[in-house]
Amino acid sequence: MKICDRLREKRNTLSFEVFPPKAGGEMEPIRSAVREIAQLKPDFMSVTYGAGGGNSKNTVEIANEVQSLGVTALAHLTCIGATREEICSRLDSLKAEGIQNVLALRGDKPKDVDSIKAGDFPHASDLVREIRARGGFCIGAACYPEGHTECESRTADIENLKIKVENGCDFLTTQMFFDNSALYSFLYRLSEHNIDVPVVAGVMPVTNGKQIARICELSGTSLPQRFRMIADKYGDKPAAMKQAGIAYATEQIIDLFANGIHAVHIYTMNKPDVAAAIQKNISEILK
Ligand code: FAD
Repeated sequence: MKICDRLREKRNTLSFEVFPPKAGGEMEPIRSAVREIAQLKPDFMSVTYGAGGGNSKNTVEIANEVQSLGVTALAHLTCIGATREEICSRLDSLKAEGIQNVLALRGDKPKDVDSIKAGDFPHASDLVREIRARGGFCIGAACYPEGHTECESRTADIENLKIKVENGCDFLTTQMFFDNSALYSFLYRLSEHNIDVPVVAGVMPVTNGKQIARICELSGTSLPQRFRMIADKYGDKPAAMKQAGIAYATEQIIDLFANGIHAVHIYTMNKPDVAAAIQKNISEILK
């Protein structure tokens, strides 16, 4: 099933994200989490990809596992430092496994920028063009309601995003955001730029207070005061933080659906209990 077809139906969809083990890491605990999350029958599950491609085999393997469990898989693919030949071989592996959906990404630049070899695809839009030219895939790409950290302005970021869409991307998934008004004003700016592909809203349930500052620093996501108060109060009480993080994400999602958003993607970080709790909280809303 191509995800873009499902998104065009405009019924409420819920999807979850999993990440494969790093190269050399243990596969079984991840497989077990994937099986549990797949039992929730989300509309699709996305499988992340290590920038630089070190664990590319694991992404294909986990995406394949997802599909064998009867759930559509969205395999992430990054192009930073990759040659055309490497990308084509990864796309061939995905095709051979019957994976029809790819999230085309550049990947984060490592801290030591000099360590990246020059690749054939400087931007995700170049990767999108390549995948489109080969045909056969539904192509997703990333977007940033609060702007990408490297971009000088939000307008420039949206102009770059437009190139990605014009090069053949079928849908967009957002970076996490904790204030829904950031998404609503982003959608308005997209419509001003005539970007009209479906947008999947990415929501991160924060269940670990210690990670919040780092997540926000890396992603450029801002924390509203309401969330700051929750994190300050419960950040060092794991069970309370988890409950609060799930409740906050649930409220965000209800507000999104109530405001006409049809597709929500949850950054579940291999946590079946978090995925299940949120799905249960919105079970009637999803119908
Ligand atoms: P691009 O679209 O190439 O954008 C990167 C920067 O370049 C932006 O500032 C943009 O404005 C600018 N730019 C783009 N095109 C042009 C152009 N033509 N000319 C000039 N400037 C341009 N990382 C992983 O390593 N693995 C994953 O699995 C992964 N999954 C992700 C999933 C989602 C939903 C999101 C939002 C991010 C994910 N990331 C992942 C992180 C992502 O790789 C980083 O945010 C990365 O820094 C940018 O990737 P991109 O695809 O948005 O890049």
